[in-house]
Amino acid sequence: MKVTHSLTERLFAEQAERLRQHERDLAAILDNMPAMIGYWDRDLRNRFGNHAYYDWFGIDPATMSGMHIRDVIGEERFRLNFPYMQAALRGERQQFEREIPTPDGSRVRFSLADYIPDIRDGEVHGFFVLVSDVTRLKETEMALRDSETRFRTLFDDSAEALLLWENDAFVGCNIAAATLLRLPSREVLLGGSFDAISPPLQPDGVASADRIAAMVAAAHAIGNSLFEWECRTADGRHFTAEMLLTSIQADRRLLHVVLRDISAAKAVEAELRRSNAELESFAYAVSHDLRQPLRMIASFLGLLDRKVRGGLDEEGRSFIDFAIDGAKRLDRMIVALLDYSRIGRREQEKENVELTLALNRALDALGAVITESAAEVVVPHPLPCVVGFASELERLFQNLVGNAVKYRAPDRPPRVVVECRETPREWILVVSDNGIGIPADQQGQLFNVFHRVVRGVEYEGTGIGLASCRKIAQRHGGRIWVESEDGKGATFLTALPKNVRSG
Ligand code: ADP
Repeated sequence: MKVTHSLTERLFAEQAERLRQHERDLAAILDNMPAMIGYWDRDLRNRFGNHAYYDWFGIDPATMSGMHIRDVIGEERFRLNFPYMQAALRGERQQFEREIPTPDGSRVRFSLADYIPDIRDGEVHGFFVLVSDVTRLKETEMALRDSETRFRTLFDDSAEALLLWENDAFVGCNIAAATLLRLPSREVLLGGSFDAISPPLQPDGVASADRIAAMVAAAHAIGNSLFEWECRTADGRHFTAEMLLTSIQADRRLLHVVLRDISAAKAVEAELRRSNAELESFAYAVSHDLRQPLRMIASFLGLLDRKVRGGLDEEGRSFIDFAIDGAKRLDRMIVALLDYSRIGRREQEKENVELTLALNRALDALGAVITESAAEVVVPHPLPCVVGFASELERLFQNLVGNAVKYRAPDRPPRVVVECRETPREWILVVSDNGIGIPADQQGQLFNVFHRVVRGVEYEGTGIGLASCRKIAQRHGGRIWVESEDGKGATFLTALPKNVRSG
């Protein structure tokens, strides 16, 4: 009997221990949940809470157990939450958000509360409370909203006309764009296409829809595309715009569009081109006409020389030599000026130019000079094919390599390196030499007509070569500059844009 009794006791004890273990496991699980969990009975008295829950209120579990919810959360919050409690006790699940200041009041925490009714045998015995701290989520959400507001303000208030294009419709239009396009409101453009702001055809006869499709595709493929665009405003006015499409979110096929009215600049450019052309034809005519009397002076000086040379003393003969030299020099200058004003006179189409071919032609023309000076011309890498005017690029090489050989240092044989560097938007032709170099204070004016660096030693020249190079670079939409240290050689760099517009 005694044995049986102690067996039962042992079984009970084991059972009780298992239960306690189970309870400890459950408490451990609940305590480690990343949420606050509590239980309130029908009388709104606390029956359970995990660590996080007690921590949140700053009350220790032993004290809180059995406390009324009003005493735990305070009168004001009780008043606010009471309707949810009532609903939960009616068996309706509740969810709501709360902003709760931290006990020291320094910041606000955000919580998401769930009241889950405890329904057993069709009766509500109380409700579980599940509170998640969503402060981080909320703060991120607010930061995101803040930055969205900042960028929206930046977009909306930018002085540049900006549009957003997604897939095949406008999804954004700022105030400046609406003003430029004379839209009655920004919204009218949203959902619309480029048809709304363009005539059916562009000035070159290409359908606007085809051109824009190609430009949008290019922006998606290479990141951006820049082009001129004939725009039509809502009230039917046409203007030339420069349009820049930039891909900002490839997966959404989202493009940022900048629209600039360049009609005024175009008008100025056209006027400038007209007056330049006028000036050039004037220079051409004048230099052409000047050569005739100059030839006459030179030939009469020659006749005079033959006739009187015998009867003149040394000084007299040198006067005639100076006069003949001067006439010859003037003639060379006029010829150079004529050549300069001829650049770009003929209307030509740009073509694909094999730079290697252009350079070889230039080297052929310089053959005698190169041989006589024993110059070495090195082309370390094959040169690319660019879009441009073949004869002008040949002339550019001829002038630059010719100068590199002419302005050689007396103590070393000339060595000229010709290369072409590539950047995303440009080809850069580089001609460098080991010659006498150029003083820093002279480098700025070097490309002006007739500018020559004055040196002790006289070098034959007219001061037109580099001015011609600059004109050629500009005709290609590019630029030219020099890098040099006096006495240590010079490097001339000519940048040619890859998407060249005809000049
Ligand atoms: P020109 O050679 O007929 O004088 P350019 O216009 O070709 O005229 O050159 C202008 C001036 O620039 C030259 O007089 C010369 O002083 C300087 N220059 C040009 N190329 C070089 C070079 N590679 N090295 C040193 N100086 C140069």
